[in-house]
Amino acid sequence: MKDVIIIGAGTGGLSVARELSKNDNVNITIIEKGPLADAEDGYKFYDPWDKNEMELIKTTVVGGSSLVIAGNFIPSLVGELKEYDIDIEPQIAQLKEELNIQPMPESHTGKINNLLEKAAKELGLEMSPTPKAINPQKCKQCGRCAWGCPHGAKWSSLEDLKVALDNGATLLTNEAAIKLITEEDKVKGVVTDKGNTYTADVVVVAAGGMITPKLLRTAGIKAGETFAVDPFVTIGGYYKGACQDHEIQMNKYLKLPHILIASHTSQYLLPKIQETHPDATADDIISFMVKVPDNLKGKVYANEVVKGIDFDDASLIARGCGIASAILVQAGADIESISSTHVRGAHLLSSARIGDIVDNNLETEIKNLYVGDGCVLPEAPGLPPIYTILALSRRLGQHLAEIL
Ligand SMILES: Cc1cc2nc3c(=O)[nH]c(=O)nc-3n(C[C@H](O)[C@H](O)[C@H](O)COP(=O)(O)OP(=O)(O)OC[C@H]3O[C@@H](n4cnc5c(N)ncnc54)[C@H](O)[C@@H]3O)c2cc1C
Repeated sequence: MKDVIIIGAGTGGLSVARELSKNDNVNITIIEKGPLADAEDGYKFYDPWDKNEMELIKTTVVGGSSLVIAGNFIPSLVGELKEYDIDIEPQIAQLKEELNIQPMPESHTGKINNLLEKAAKELGLEMSPTPKAINPQKCKQCGRCAWGCPHGAKWSSLEDLKVALDNGATLLTNEAAIKLITEEDKVKGVVTDKGNTYTADVVVVAAGGMITPKLLRTAGIKAGETFAVDPFVTIGGYYKGACQDHEIQMNKYLKLPHILIASHTSQYLLPKIQETHPDATADDIISFMVKVPDNLKGKVYANEVVKGIDFDDASLIARGCGIASAILVQAGADIESISSTHVRGAHLLSSARIGDIVDNNLETEIKNLYVGDGCVLPEAPGLPPIYTILALSRRLGQHLAEIL
């Protein structure tokens, strides 16, 4: 029997656990800093980092960020990963079937999503339907995807957890890994904030883009010299009775070179729109997210995260906002009310990259120490990354199940 510890019961960690738990010879312990909660309470566990120019968004809870995703599943980096001798096409196909990834039917597109698509078309821009892991039969179009789905319609990693637990894995909650133990370039275990030491034959670190590199540094690995977050803003204007906040978010998207524009609402817009329309409510806003693929210039050190907006980011965001504003006004938004949120980042990636910190089996220079989350992406895709993170982590789970 081999003992495997997975640090982080988030998107990547639970995907590794799910596949690895199919091997009866493995004893899996998942150590998670957050609690176990219902998917619909996901929003209670947002744990943002705002000590930068940019607010970085993550959650600390079993299921990780998967609880609050918009449900967008667009494959990315499939070709780029082949350059590292990694083929995720089988896992992409596996996930499409398991999660039933498809665009929402017309009945679930939403009035404002359709209006924005029509306005974009009038300006010569073609929006596409976003593939989603949302079950239309269960979805009540409440617009609460990013809070945590209250109707059990949206896929989350809790489904992977169920498989892993049914197969005998153990989940420890409210306990954070703080240090990796190594001996002669081999991993030996994990120390936690409760003062516990767990020994293991294999350790998979999957604590997310901002934490995994810090843990790797405790084993002497110089991770975190790169870090991407895909900066975004939500830009919107006054449109009486839009009720876009009751539609499925990001149902339609427009992909331009280096810019992604998708229908999206944010509570941060309301006070700004009330400056021109004091009577406005959250139901009177029409808005887009403008997101740009990030460079790798961020840093994650043991006690510090450094991430800013450089000239190129600012220029791309400005260009995206120009295009988004034109569509919003074409759709009927009051031009004088157009406002933007502050810059945020929700794709915390590439801080322990393939080809840099891990090899093509996601193993580090320390034997039996692997990374199983978004950190391993060699670059920021500028597209929703969860499909690729899940494909890579399922592939890692399958690889470990085969060799252990
Ligand atoms: C609001 C929001 C909406 C999004 N929507 C989409 C979308 O629609 N489509 C898409 O592709 N992407 C989306 N993303 C991005 C996507 O969710 C993330 O990129 C992805 O889930 C990250 O997976 P991960 O495994 O790297 O990290 P996570 O899922 O964040 O998992 C990390 C886990 O580690 C735990 N942890 C942290 N520190 C420790 C520690 N010291 N010890 C033990 N456990 C620890 C955390 O609590 C967490 O459970 C969204 C993100 C956000 C925030």
